[in-house]
Amino acid sequence: MDNEKIKGMPGVTPKDVRAILDILSVNPDRPLYIHDVWCKRCGICIAMCPHNALEKGPDGVPVVIDEKCKRCGMCELRCPDLAITLLQTRN
Ligand code: SF4
Ligand code: SF4
Repeated sequence: MDNEKIKGMPGVTPKDVRAILDILSVNPDRPLYIHDVWCKRCGICIAMCPHNALEKGPDGVPVVIDEKCKRCGMCELRCPDLAITLLQTRN
């Protein structure tokens, strides 16, 4: 089953598609990390978060408000310095 090809997408298997969907899907169990060494304190992620789940920390690095964060990945997508990582927890 997993070795079947997707019609019209040569070389792409159902397993590949599931992996892509997993990465794109909202998963509230995904840990979110903000790497303070890479963060330039620009505030873009705070402005872009659709759930107001980020606020500026004492050193300027954003901190996540876990009760508000939906793990949607918008901050990770918008950070110009790749300083935010949402880890995948599913296989
Ligand atoms: S967008 Fe990235 S670099 Fe800017 S404050 Fe957020 S984590 Fe830091
Ligand atoms: S994952 Fe979504 S809800 Fe959570 S801090 Fe980032 S943009 Fe906001």
